[in-house]
Amino acid sequence: MTVRVDAHGRLGTARSRSDQHGAARWEALQAVRMREPMKGGVDYTVTQVSEIFGTNVFNRHVMRTLLPKNVYKALVRCLDQGEQLDPSMADIVANAMKDWALSRGATHFTHWFHPMTEQTAEKHDSFLVSGGPEGGAILEFSGKLLIQGEPDASSFPSGGIRSTFEARGYTGWDPTSPAFLMESTNGKTLCIPTVFCSYSGHALDKKTPLLRSLEALNKQAVRVLHILGNREAKRVISTVGPEQEYFLIDEAFYFARPDIINCGRALFGARPPKGQEMEDHYWGSIKERVLAFMMDAESELYKLGVPVKTRHNEVAPAQFEVAPVFEQSNIATDHNLLLMEVFRKTAQKHGLRCLFHEKPFSGVNGSGKHNNWSMADDEGNNLLEPGSTPLENTQFLVLLTAVVRAVNKYAGLLRSAIAHAGNDHRLGANEAPPAIMSIYLGDRLTEVVNALIAGQKEMKGVDGKVILQFGVSTLPDLPRDDSDRNRTSPFAFTGNKFEFRALGASQSIAFPNTVLNTMVAESLDCIASELEKLVKGGTDINAAAEKVVRETLKENQRILFNGDNYSTEWHEEAGRRGLPNLRNTVESLPELVKEEIKQLFNKYHVLSEDELVGRYNVKVAQFCKTVNIEWLLTKSIARTMILPAALEYQSRLAGTIVQTKAAVTGINLSGEENMLRDLSNKIGELLTALERLEQPMSGSGNGGGHGHGDAESYVMAKFYQDEVIPAMQAVRDAADELEVLVDDSIWPLPKFREMLYIY
Ligand code: ADP
Ligand code: MG
Repeated sequence: MTVRVDAHGRLGTARSRSDQHGAARWEALQAVRMREPMKGGVDYTVTQVSEIFGTNVFNRHVMRTLLPKNVYKALVRCLDQGEQLDPSMADIVANAMKDWALSRGATHFTHWFHPMTEQTAEKHDSFLVSGGPEGGAILEFSGKLLIQGEPDASSFPSGGIRSTFEARGYTGWDPTSPAFLMESTNGKTLCIPTVFCSYSGHALDKKTPLLRSLEALNKQAVRVLHILGNREAKRVISTVGPEQEYFLIDEAFYFARPDIINCGRALFGARPPKGQEMEDHYWGSIKERVLAFMMDAESELYKLGVPVKTRHNEVAPAQFEVAPVFEQSNIATDHNLLLMEVFRKTAQKHGLRCLFHEKPFSGVNGSGKHNNWSMADDEGNNLLEPGSTPLENTQFLVLLTAVVRAVNKYAGLLRSAIAHAGNDHRLGANEAPPAIMSIYLGDRLTEVVNALIAGQKEMKGVDGKVILQFGVSTLPDLPRDDSDRNRTSPFAFTGNKFEFRALGASQSIAFPNTVLNTMVAESLDCIASELEKLVKGGTDINAAAEKVVRETLKENQRILFNGDNYSTEWHEEAGRRGLPNLRNTVESLPELVKEEIKQLFNKYHVLSEDELVGRYNVKVAQFCKTVNIEWLLTKSIARTMILPAALEYQSRLAGTIVQTKAAVTGINLSGEENMLRDLSNKIGELLTALERLEQPMSGSGNGGGHGHGDAESYVMAKFYQDEVIPAMQAVRDAADELEVLVDDSIWPLPKFREMLYIY
């Protein structure tokens, strides 16, 4: 007999057979007890943040020191003004990049790109070209290798864009996002951000359309600014600051949960007795071991030039948030992906696992990504800052109007941009924003908007002073706090930016921002044309702006809503207003391929029809595949882990009853018999639900495969939504009820009350 310690630290002796069911869980609990905060990262008493920030980045500072003046200047023009870089300069840049990377210990380089998955891809090549004539190594990196790569594209999702016989794809250097060195245990790799397209030039990635959308936005925004008299602005970019939520659990628990390993979320698990109702985790003091992890990850990110700023405990137990300082949206996208990767890796180093799934644990809050979005000119002025002069005011109101119109006109598209299987667990539940898109402006700005719509020439403040006179006077001060407090809105104006809160934690921010940039570009285009027409007809620009703002806001005001987005009244009201309520991925994806959406993306050269349909196909297939994996896993965990434990307990109970009756004549065991009856009933329910799930359901398959599109895959997605998901839920419901009946010592899966609290 071996002496062992159970979860509660009690000494006991192992019962040979029975407790093997719970062995993995007990071992996990044991392992977690031994954990200690781990040292790692940078010692800031010796090295300051400023000394490490960006040290792994081939940034402007490095380029200025290493490149000839003319090459450096050309690169800066490319970065700041979007000018094309002369390919003849590529060799010089490549050489400097190589020398820099080698001097910092790199051996390999990779084109780092962003296929149509939610993650990045890389294939490493060493700088070694051959052993030299005398047997020494020759290391090389040419402009050609910098500018273009030629990976086999056949195993990346294309949604049918790339015909299967044409496997070639191309990666192309994106100089607007700086190259960087990724450190790993035994060396460093030079990562070069690239776009990825097919032989025929179709974008096969998420970055190409994002860059194209930035161009579209730039063009239309500059046009509007110029009409309004702001001649200084040469370039407009969109800025993004994504707040990232995540969970951390101990790695030992992770290993004992095949569902979390394979799906990123717990497919089973009863609600913990203590959830988040005590409200004691949000902004609570950060546990030592978690803080050690955070600091370690942050120092890695500093080296990569990722400006992480905020860290705190989130609402759910074991949930946290990190937020960076905002950046140009292309760079913010790359940095968010890097952040997720560094967090995953560093967590592992600390014996933890970082979960980005939208809903790893049902019963407590899920994780989202708040996409703070604004526009800025080349001087860095935030264009959604209300400002204090009439020109700034007019500009602000026009741009605000453009966003309001865009969200109203493209509410369905915006919804589909954040639709995926994981996010379905979150949107619409009483925690995250609902699936209905609407805009929150805050009370003050709403007053302004109402005054404008009513055609009021001026608006008086509480003190009776005139606070708004279109084009003449200044806007009222818009207190930032005032506008930040509606946490239920999916799209909230927060003082000088919009916060799009409906993104899922696991998803790349590339596509949602591509959509935002494009739809706002279309709105600005429309507004610019109206303004031009009026001015041409002799209307003064201020009067023209006022007219366009008033009419546009009036036409689009149904999208404005300041109230509680969770309430049933809002759902009814939204219905009356005709706002789309697309409850899940399957309902929302068709929005992507509507005729007007095809035209939108086509008109601004962001996505051709083929490219758009390809993305739709990929999204449909991804949904099917995700649910399919969950389906297979639900069956196997229920059959091979949960049922055996429940049957073991059933057998023990039955044995006890039989033995006791044999030992004591006439004894009343009605209590025990009831326990056995309840248990057997629950097991029966689980079996019935499981049999239903195991039936070869009509339409089942591998989830859409590489199909072309289309109707067939969509039918499959509907089948997963309507048949598989409810059938899985029924299995889970029965299993979760068993969890609270079966002997704790033989329950095989770590419980929520453990995973969420012991780390
Ligand atoms: P809160 O939780 O109150 O929304 P946080 O400080 O957590 O605030 O996050 C705000 C995010 O918004 C940060 O990432 C910040 O950099 C970003 N942000 C601030 N100004 C802008 C802007 N002009 N454009 C885009 N993002 C911005
Ligand atoms: Mg926020």
